[in-house]
Amino acid sequence: MLALRLLNVVAPAYFLCISLVTFVLQIFLFLPSMREDPTATPLFSPAVLHGALFLFLSANALGNYVLVIQNSPDDLGTCQGTSSQRPQCPPPSTHFCRVCSRVTLRHDHHCFFTGNCIGSRNMRNFILFCLYTSLACLYSMVAGVAYISAVLSISFAHPLAFLTLLPTSISQFFSGAVLGSDMFVILMLYLWFAVGLACAGFCCHQLLLILRGQTRYQVRKGVAVRARPWRKNLQEVFGKRWLLGLLVPMFNVGTESSKQQDK
Ligand SMILES: [Zn+2]
Repeated sequence: MLALRLLNVVAPAYFLCISLVTFVLQIFLFLPSMREDPTATPLFSPAVLHGALFLFLSANALGNYVLVIQNSPDDLGTCQGTSSQRPQCPPPSTHFCRVCSRVTLRHDHHCFFTGNCIGSRNMRNFILFCLYTSLACLYSMVAGVAYISAVLSISFAHPLAFLTLLPTSISQFFSGAVLGSDMFVILMLYLWFAVGLACAGFCCHQLLLILRGQTRYQVRKGVAVRARPWRKNLQEVFGKRWLLGLLVPMFNVGTESSKQQDK
């Protein structure tokens, strides 16, 4: 349990460090390198468009990250006792989280990167957090590849160029042909690629579960769920303002769970 609680602190710090490093690289390294295009008009220069898109993706990723933490699942609180007391806990979709020491409604899983349970109220923010983190990482990777390609005069036209970049650049780094800052960017390319793919896969898996009306906890425990139309399952999680929520980080209102809480 101590290891889990430690992970609950280290993982958010790790995520925030990666976010800060990504932001610094984008603003101080990638954007200035794009400013040198003499043919572009100032308003629609690559640097301005790139900066605006990156800020949009980052604001949504970090905004939804904060909302996942703020908007904890409904806490049924009274069942946080020993295992002999837990049978008193209501409904099948509830679960006692050992890390948070509380019972949450429609529990899906405990996310160590946000240090919070994912459930009834923050599922939409969690999915959007995964989606925008994935997009921000993959977009940073593309910008980083363009930067490295220009700085080191490397062509990425060959499909295997990205795979051979790391071993080649490591040997060049130790021979002094590649600067430390460029080597750091190359390492970040692989990190962005890995995190971007992981978040995209996570997002797709979570969406599939929502369409089925299941939580990951129910799948793990083999709990049967009643069949409902997929549109209803989607609306329950994403609410009525789903389109606005896709573009701007905001609290999830108008869903079934929030209505139940209001009653
Ligand atoms: Zn938890």
